[in-house]
Amino acid sequence: MSELYPARATVDLDAVAHNVGVLRERAGAAEVMAVVKADAYGHGLVPCARAALAGGAAALGVAQPGEALELRSAGIGAPLLCWLTAPGTDLAPLVQAEVEVAASASWTLDAVAAAARAIGTTATIQLKADTGLGRNGAYALPLRPGARTDWADLVQQAAALEAEGVVQVRGVFSHFAYADAPSHPTVRAQQEAFADAVATAEGAGLRPEVRHLSNSAATLTAKGAAWDMVRPGLAVYGLTPVPDVGSAQDFGLRPAMRVTATSVLAKRIRAGQGVSYGHAYAPSAETTVIDVPVGYADGIPRHASGVGPVQVRGRRLAISGRVCMDQFMVDVGDLEVSDGEEVVLFGAGADGEPTAQDWADAVGTISYEIVSRIGHRVPREYVGASGR
Ligand SMILES: *Cc1c(COP(=O)(O)O)cnc(C)c1O
Repeated sequence: MSELYPARATVDLDAVAHNVGVLRERAGAAEVMAVVKADAYGHGLVPCARAALAGGAAALGVAQPGEALELRSAGIGAPLLCWLTAPGTDLAPLVQAEVEVAASASWTLDAVAAAARAIGTTATIQLKADTGLGRNGAYALPLRPGARTDWADLVQQAAALEAEGVVQVRGVFSHFAYADAPSHPTVRAQQEAFADAVATAEGAGLRPEVRHLSNSAATLTAKGAAWDMVRPGLAVYGLTPVPDVGSAQDFGLRPAMRVTATSVLAKRIRAGQGVSYGHAYAPSAETTVIDVPVGYADGIPRHASGVGPVQVRGRRLAISGRVCMDQFMVDVGDLEVSDGEEVVLFGAGADGEPTAQDWADAVGTISYEIVSRIGHRVPREYVGASGR
């Protein structure tokens, strides 16, 4: 089947397991929850979840209920946290599957309690505090000095449900706004606000066994923020969340994804021939161009027009002209090439090929976006034994 698609993403599951090992070491006594949302950042949900567990992850984290149930359907029974549910979602399947639903609001606690009562079980849940990200989570900062917070209300409601026996609050957590800038003042302020939020929860009688705050960047740069668990995503896949602080290699991380495509045509064109839509590129002399059959529908950013780095026969080159929906062109000069040439888009970088970070730099984004948007027409192929 996969030969019917001209590009592929090879994912090294041993790299995933290795990276979890690196993160475990960084986390000290804290456990690792490997974040596998968004199809494991484009690397493949189930295989990467298994590899992360094989590498020593104690738990998995996802954003959406569908992702959580997909893991359970695959037979993965590890502790699993799901933090983005919409009002109106029937949480019973999640409670039944022993997925820990994260509550950011009162409605979530109501819904999870209703599901637990209907099933006749105690739902294990976690509570999410907004300690200053200004996104998901119950707001844990007072609107005015001394004012009662949304967080205080949420923990009180949760404590009442615990007393009734319908929920058990296993964890409390929050998320950083600026962990990628370790010296930013909000990093410290959020750590303090999280300590206050934990104290509020414990003051209400909750005894959360896992308290966690650190994403990849904080796991790698802010040791004091690890609490009982860290929650890295990007670094699990071997990419650096803080390219200005350290490369993947500096942290001992191994990029797990390598994307290659087989070109479909090589041809000589004359001097001045515009290449691809809008003729944004025109060689000044006769040259050879190759047609690479992946485009923005496959997650190659259109912003990579003229700049996206590739490697052909060991040589670093760039996309020539515009990225189209299904293809882009590369001027290879007088390089001897065949029609069906292997083109490396990105990989670990060990053989001079571009990395996902190089792509991010070239198009002005973050490596998260490069890997997670690689599309369905790029079949994932797995190498490595971890988790199989
Ligand atoms: C995505 C996400 C993470 C992982 O973040 P990385 O920067 O990829 O390590 C952790 N926690 C929450 C709540 C997230 O949404």
